[in-house]
Amino acid sequence: MAIDVFISEEKIQERIKELAEVISKDYKGEEVIVVGVLNGCFMFCADLLRELDLPVITEFMAASSYGEGTTTSGQVDILLDIKSDIKGKNVLFVEDIVDTGHTFKKILEMIKTRGPKSVKIASLLSKPARREHEIDIDYLAFEIEDKFVVGYGLDLAGKYRELPYIGIYNS
Ligand code: 5GP
Repeated sequence: MAIDVFISEEKIQERIKELAEVISKDYKGEEVIVVGVLNGCFMFCADLLRELDLPVITEFMAASSYGEGTTTSGQVDILLDIKSDIKGKNVLFVEDIVDTGHTFKKILEMIKTRGPKSVKIASLLSKPARREHEIDIDYLAFEIEDKFVVGYGLDLAGKYRELPYIGIYNS
């Protein structure tokens, strides 16, 4: 087993600064409820939040994902919901990776029933080749090919989340 560096720490941090600038401009003068989608978002969300120049309320949601393997089952369960009332509010989801789109299809369906003013998505990564549901990502750091990645919050059975870079897992 080896992990090759795929996107370096420097590149990630540089891109986050760029995204944060755009997000801060887009929401200028507005309050935003930032919703991190656990578990994989924790590093991206923490770094992005520190670069935002906005009044934010921070919340977290958790949805089930791959479990112990590297392929999706398509079954998504909401394991942790937000506490804020989002009626009439701007909601910005922060996600580690949009892969098949199953997770976001489920989250968006649920959140739209609560009457938010706006809903946007910021994602660290996107694998468009694997998409099964169309998902509009408003702020995307990196588009990647169909490879299983770990690091910078992303895991394989709980491992490698602590890496400061995104790596390709070679079994
Ligand atoms: P989706 O529902 O879009 O298929 O998948 C979303 C979730 O699957 C992500 O939040 C992430 O937890 C997991 N996932 C998708 N692709 C990868 C990957 O390449 N590496 C890791 N570690 N997790 C992934």
